[in-house]
Amino acid sequence: MKQHVMHATVYMGPGDLEFREMPVPTLGSGDLWVKVNTALTCGTDVKTYRRGHPKYDPPTLFGHEFCGVVVETGPEVAGFEPGMRVVAGNTAPCNICYYCKRGQPNLCDDLLVNLGAFAEYIRVPARIVRQNTFVVPDHLTDREAAIIEPLACVVHGQDLLHIQPGESVAIVGAGGPIGLMHLQLALRQGASPVVAIDINDKRLTVAKSLGATRTVNSRQKDPIEAVRELTEGRGADVAIECAGVKAAWLTALDVARKGARVEWFGGLPGGTQVEVDSTRVHYDELTIFGVYHLTPLTLERAFRLVCDGVIDVKPLITHEVSLANLEDGLEMMMEGKSVKVAVLP
Ligand SMILES: [Zn+2]
Ligand SMILES: [Zn+2]
Repeated sequence: MKQHVMHATVYMGPGDLEFREMPVPTLGSGDLWVKVNTALTCGTDVKTYRRGHPKYDPPTLFGHEFCGVVVETGPEVAGFEPGMRVVAGNTAPCNICYYCKRGQPNLCDDLLVNLGAFAEYIRVPARIVRQNTFVVPDHLTDREAAIIEPLACVVHGQDLLHIQPGESVAIVGAGGPIGLMHLQLALRQGASPVVAIDINDKRLTVAKSLGATRTVNSRQKDPIEAVRELTEGRGADVAIECAGVKAAWLTALDVARKGARVEWFGGLPGGTQVEVDSTRVHYDELTIFGVYHLTPLTLERAFRLVCDGVIDVKPLITHEVSLANLEDGLEMMMEGKSVKVAVLP
C-alpha cells in the first residue's frame, strides 16, 4: 500500500541538505513507485553538494543511483509488477529531437532527469520506465545493480575511444569510482600497459588489485615520466581523465603520445577555461574528446556487464551510511576516504 508521507533528503543548495518528511507524489499512468533498497553516492552528488550543479534547481530531491522493489505501478505500465526488484537510469531521452535522431540521445534537448534516490521511495517516470529500467536478477546484490548508471557513462566514454588490444592507456584520477571502472573496461579490451595515476595511495592499492599494470602517485612521482618509462619514451596511446579537476585535464594531455586520443571525462565548474598548448594539438595531432552522460544503449550494455560479472563492482563500494547520515557519506568521498558509499533508507 502506498504511504502518504516518506523520508527524503532534499538538496537546498551547496553544503545544505535537509532530511525531512514529505508528501509522496502522485503516480502517473506509466510510472513506477519503488521502495529504495540501496542508493549510491556518486561524484556528481559530491560536486553538487560542494559547489552546486548547473542543471539542479534547489530545493530538489537528490541522488540518482539506486536499486529497489516495485511497490505500485501505474495502470498503463507493462513488464513490471509489484514485488519486482528493479534498477532504473536517472534520465531518458525524447527520441524525437535533432540530437536523438542523430544517435546522440545523451545530448537530447529534452532529456528527462529523475532525482530522489536518497529517499525511502522514488517515483520512476514513464519515459524512464519504458527505456531505462531493468528487472534485477537474483544473483546481483542491490548495490551491484545500482552501479549501472555511472558504468553506462564509462561505456559511452570508451565507445568514443575505440581502445584496441595492446594499446597503452593512462588513467588520470584512476582511484575514484569512475577511474576504477575505466580501468577494468580498458583491461577487458586488452589494453596494455594500463597506468593508474592518482593522488591517493589507498585508492591506488585498489587500482592495483583490479589489474593496473602500474600505479603512480602523482604527488610522489612525475606521471609523465612514469608513463614514458612504460611506453619506450612516447607516452600513452590513450589518456583518460576522470578526476574532474583542471590539473588532471592537463595531465591527461601531458601523458599522451603524438597522435593519441585524450578523453576529458570529469566535468569542471561552469565557465572554467582550460589553456592548451596548440603545438601539442596541431603538430602532435591529438584528438581530444569531451564526453557527457550515457545513452539507453550504453545503459543496457552496462547492465549486461554487471549481470555477467565482467566488471567487479564490490571494490567500488567501500562504505555504507544510513539515509539520515548521507552528509557523512559525502564528506568521506570528498576526503578520499571512500570510493562509493551505499546509502540505506
Ligand atoms: Zn552517478
Ligand atoms: Zn531528444
